[in-house]
Amino acid sequence: MSSLDDLYRRVIMDHYQKPRNRGKLDEAEGLIVHLNNPTCGDSISLSLKLENGRVADARFLGEGCSISMSSASMMTEAVKGKTVEEALHLAQVFSELMQGKEPDESIDLGDIEALSGVAKFPARIKCATLAWKALEQGIKQAEQ
Ligand code: ZN
Repeated sequence: MSSLDDLYRRVIMDHYQKPRNRGKLDEAEGLIVHLNNPTCGDSISLSLKLENGRVADARFLGEGCSISMSSASMMTEAVKGKTVEEALHLAQVFSELMQGKEPDESIDLGDIEALSGVAKFPARIKCATLAWKALEQGIKQAEQ
């Protein structure tokens, strides 16, 4: 195992053991998206508060493997405070990262980069993208 893999594994475990933005919003405060990944048994409830074109708040509850839960933690941390366009762009970049593409260097992925190795394990890609799919679905719901 390379030291980079080791670093990435530590970042993933840190988010898994100490999830950021864990919780939920009242229905009156924001919208909630529930999604499952039956192939692994992961489930997530993502609460989103969109205000003035920005992601004012993002929290999640869920159960599942370390990849799905750490990805949800990283996603909420990454999109909070961003504009809806920036958040959707980041979701697109993440989807490309899961297809094994090199990330756009102009974007600071932060901890998200730790999940880049998942691209090599097709069975786990749905775990990593679950939270991001919930984000995209929530934004779509809000725009309707
Ligand atoms: Zn999983």
